[in-house]
Amino acid sequence: MKENIKQLSLEELTGVLASWKEPAFRAGQIFSWIYQKGADDFAGMSNLPQPLRRRLGENFCLSGLELASFRESLDGTKKFLFKLPDGKFIEAVNIPAQNRATGCISSQAGCKFACAFCASGALGFKRNLSSAEILDQVLYLKNDSSQALTHIVFMGTGEPLDNYDNVLKAVRIMNSDWAFNIGARRITISTCGLVPAIARLAEEGLQIELSVSLHAADDKVRDALMPVNKRYPIKELIDSCRKYINRTNRQVTFEYILARGVNSDLPNAGKLSKILAGLNCKVNLIPINPQKEEGLQPPSKRDILFFRDALVKSGVAVTLRRPRGQDIEAACGQLRLRYEKD
Ligand code: SF4
Repeated sequence: MKENIKQLSLEELTGVLASWKEPAFRAGQIFSWIYQKGADDFAGMSNLPQPLRRRLGENFCLSGLELASFRESLDGTKKFLFKLPDGKFIEAVNIPAQNRATGCISSQAGCKFACAFCASGALGFKRNLSSAEILDQVLYLKNDSSQALTHIVFMGTGEPLDNYDNVLKAVRIMNSDWAFNIGARRITISTCGLVPAIARLAEEGLQIELSVSLHAADDKVRDALMPVNKRYPIKELIDSCRKYINRTNRQVTFEYILARGVNSDLPNAGKLSKILAGLNCKVNLIPINPQKEEGLQPPSKRDILFFRDALVKSGVAVTLRRPRGQDIEAACGQLRLRYEKD
């Protein structure tokens, strides 16, 4: 099987071209055809000499993703389910807003971490995505919509920091002016809290956003919601975030799903403000999408506002996310779970 050319960085493609005695600038031309003009074959790359187009076709493929299912929410959110060549499924979501469009993409087929609120974990881990498969999701979302894709979040299936090298390679390519030219500050890596990987990420010199799924303010509740907490408990996780903030000078976002009777009362708000005191961070409160597959349900509107106000009063920066795509089960992994069960 031929290698997908999107697997290569600009430097790597330049190296291949040099070995074919082709000038370095051709690499930028080729990637501009792929990432910016949406070319799906080498033959149509009209500013390349014919022999080079032929040689590229003999050595590389450009294959993209096969769409298995598509749903569009009343709020404009579009959810895509893709089938990979080996039969695995992954999801990507396009979330449009007035001045931005956010692509939510997957980093793995399945996930090892089995968070209680997440359908991706329920089916277990299948495999890491290659950097080309990650980029193909962005390319698909970009080509599907007339609205420019301005932001990327790694909040689809999988734990991005568990597929560290491929994710970081894809991030660097997305960020490049010869590819999607999406600013690093508009790319968010979301993690369930892999402490050693957070330490490694702090040394990358990237201006990306780091978002940490916290979802609980004490270890007992977090152990139940997120088994990864038994390996990296809250104190260790918050310490690693503090070091990350000090090293990068970047604010960290903590995601906090609100589930009725689990983590959304005032004592929990008090504990949360205490563990985040003094950190350059903000908290994203997300009332959980009601799920058919399990029992977690969102709190009442009144309880959500009480929780938010308690954090604000104690000096924590908070945003309350409007749930998107509820009618198409756009919460992480839900579409794939339904599809694979049918
Ligand atoms: S929330 Fe993220 S880390 Fe947890 S099971 Fe789902 S995909 Fe995996």
